[in-house]
Amino acid sequence: MKVSGLTFPDLKKWVTADLGMKPYRARQLFSWIHLKRVTSFYQMTDISLSARNRLDRVGEITALAICDTITADDGTLKYSFTLGDGEVIESVLIPDPPRLTACISTQAGCRRACTFCQTGRGGFRRDLRTDEIVAQLYGLQNSTDDRISNVVFMGMGEPMDNFPALSDALSIISDDRGICIGARKITVSTIGIPGGIGRLAQLDGQYGLAVSLHSAVESTRRKLMPVSRTMSLQELKRDLMDYVSRKSRRITLEYCLIAGINDTIEEAEALVEFAGDIECKINLLIYNPVEGAPYRRPDIESVNRFMHYLYPRCQAVILRRSRGSDIAAACGQLGPSARNTSAT
Ligand code: SF4
Repeated sequence: MKVSGLTFPDLKKWVTADLGMKPYRARQLFSWIHLKRVTSFYQMTDISLSARNRLDRVGEITALAICDTITADDGTLKYSFTLGDGEVIESVLIPDPPRLTACISTQAGCRRACTFCQTGRGGFRRDLRTDEIVAQLYGLQNSTDDRISNVVFMGMGEPMDNFPALSDALSIISDDRGICIGARKITVSTIGIPGGIGRLAQLDGQYGLAVSLHSAVESTRRKLMPVSRTMSLQELKRDLMDYVSRKSRRITLEYCLIAGINDTIEEAEALVEFAGDIECKINLLIYNPVEGAPYRRPDIESVNRFMHYLYPRCQAVILRRSRGSDIAAACGQLGPSARNTSAT
């Protein structure tokens, strides 16, 4: 059993029903694994040796080996982790005092094939299990003395495509018996797949939601993100408005400006129209070149023109600094062959 991938209720069930142990053992185990972050049952000194022997025979605590770390000029750190089967995934740690944000992957590769994204270009290899998602976060936390304050599911993969593992990981990392990162400090970023946002809305926590919009013009969005052929902008907007009203939380629209594709005034008008009645913040990013992709960064004049069109017409617009672009750790740049050129 991959014990470190069990939510507290599932752990309690396993400990009592399958192992016949007392319920308090579940709390001890959860705290050792998710608060003290031990990786062996033998480190759990308040559990009897016979119980530890048994746990070691039937259970497993996942730890991921860091195989590479690169630091960007702005202090952003990109980590590569090797999974048990040899797959390599990437995660990013973004220091921005007082915040320290961990950007976590949910899949090895991605099947969504967004045309601007390095991960998408590398194809899909497999979903991560809950224990692997959680182990990434603990690997990052163990590498620094500062406490990780925020988590964004914005690394490799489309989180909604791996929803069961995502949902359990959310439950584990926001549990106050463990690493305890509050739901409001955790953001799930999606390109918007049918049913995905609705499933997230049904979870208990007030998790943040970021949507990679990148265009509010159907034909442009389809070019950038093939998934939008299966979910129209109208359907996406309905799901977003539903999320806002269920969670009483403003959402974030991510919009990556790409030269000549989505940085025109017509695109800005469409964005204003789309965002107008959604309680949202718009994060503008500037495209980071990806090897082999047919796109360019926009020049500063078109970025300014786009921003100045939005400013008086939208509730909140932020031009976000892209972190880690010199080490291929910025949005859309994570992937097996991404180096020095910089997902959802
Ligand atoms: S942008 Fe996100 S969903 Fe699209 S290919 Fe990249 S990782 Fe996958």
